Amino acid sequence: MDPDLDEAWVDGVRSSLVGWFRESARPLPWRRDRDPYRVLVSESMLVQTTVKAVVPHFERFTARFPDFESLAAADVEDVVKAWEGLGYYRRARQLHAAASRIARDFGGLMPDDPGVVRDLPGVGRYMAGAILSFAFDRPQPIVEANSERVIARLLALRGDTRTGAVRERIWQAAQRMVPPREAGRFNQALIELGALVCSPRRPACLVCPLTSYCRARGAGLEQAIPEPRVKAPPLAVVEACAIVSQGGLVLVVQRGSGGLWERFWEFPTVHVEGADPGGRSSIGPVDLSSGLPLLTGVQARIGSSVRTIRYSVTKHRVELRAHEGEAVSGELRPGPGLIDARWVDPRSLASLTMSSASRRLATWVAKEALDREGEAPGRASQ
Ligand code: SF4
Repeated sequence: MDPDLDEAWVDGVRSSLVGWFRESARPLPWRRDRDPYRVLVSESMLVQTTVKAVVPHFERFTARFPDFESLAAADVEDVVKAWEGLGYYRRARQLHAAASRIARDFGGLMPDDPGVVRDLPGVGRYMAGAILSFAFDRPQPIVEANSERVIARLLALRGDTRTGAVRERIWQAAQRMVPPREAGRFNQALIELGALVCSPRRPACLVCPLTSYCRARGAGLEQAIPEPRVKAPPLAVVEACAIVSQGGLVLVVQRGSGGLWERFWEFPTVHVEGADPGGRSSIGPVDLSSGLPLLTGVQARIGSSVRTIRYSVTKHRVELRAHEGEAVSGELRPGPGLIDARWVDPRSLASLTMSSASRRLATWVAKEALDREGEAPGRASQ
């Protein structure tokens, strides 16, 4: 327990923060009730993704899978498909696994025992605290990026907030501050203050409900805490993929298990240059003409690059060059790291699970195919 956090200070922080939250909280869809299912889904989606991006995904996902039982009954690949666009797809698999255990072992109801909650797939220290406090009002602490920053500033903690001693002090302070009642509201208020007021670069101390309690503000250190993290520059990568067509169909492959984008579909892709982010090193670096038969069994005439997609993944900044290709010969045979290779109608690409970068390309391919159909002789006059 932090000896500095006396009763009067803690009480003041609690009441000021909760009072501010009542007035200022955003009406987010997962705050309409305290349903543990909606807490788990929203918190799983909010990992590394902004609130604005999550809202429409959350609405669609919970309309399709409204509770633990419906999610558990779904095919995990359908769940991953419904997760498309959010990234961190392992979270979708963990969410499905957690729902399956809750449906099987707890009759579809989230348990409220901290040890059991913590043992669910994908549930760590933060997630357990969020579920137990938001849904059950248990006085469990939470520390994520926003609350971590607020607490570090309130206590004027110097040092790297991600490392042992400082991090543990933040967790201890969070434990000390969380009230015995209205714990969920308090924890959500801490996160909301970090998101709306105590922002990373320019904390709005003049309108902050905690100004008089904040030691960093008192010492003029609010911009210096937490210490800025030095980010390594992203690793540059070049990949190339082939959009190979044959008789109006286009060639796609499905990745295997393990690594990034497990079981996702994409156009056959080779790693050309730089550090390989996607585990394609078994067929790269290699040019497309040589890599395509290794990946798919198909030989093709590869044309020049028709489109370039840039995207970031983990520590990499990737340039994906897409080339059109025309199949010449060969039998379909998925190569290293792949479990399927198929010819598909471009209109059916939307039904395949893909990463955001592949989806951008697939959308373009489908549109090009439709445009070509529209321009076919005999169509224009219809
Ligand atoms: S006073 Fe400023 S630094 Fe302190 S918690 Fe409020 S916004 Fe953050």
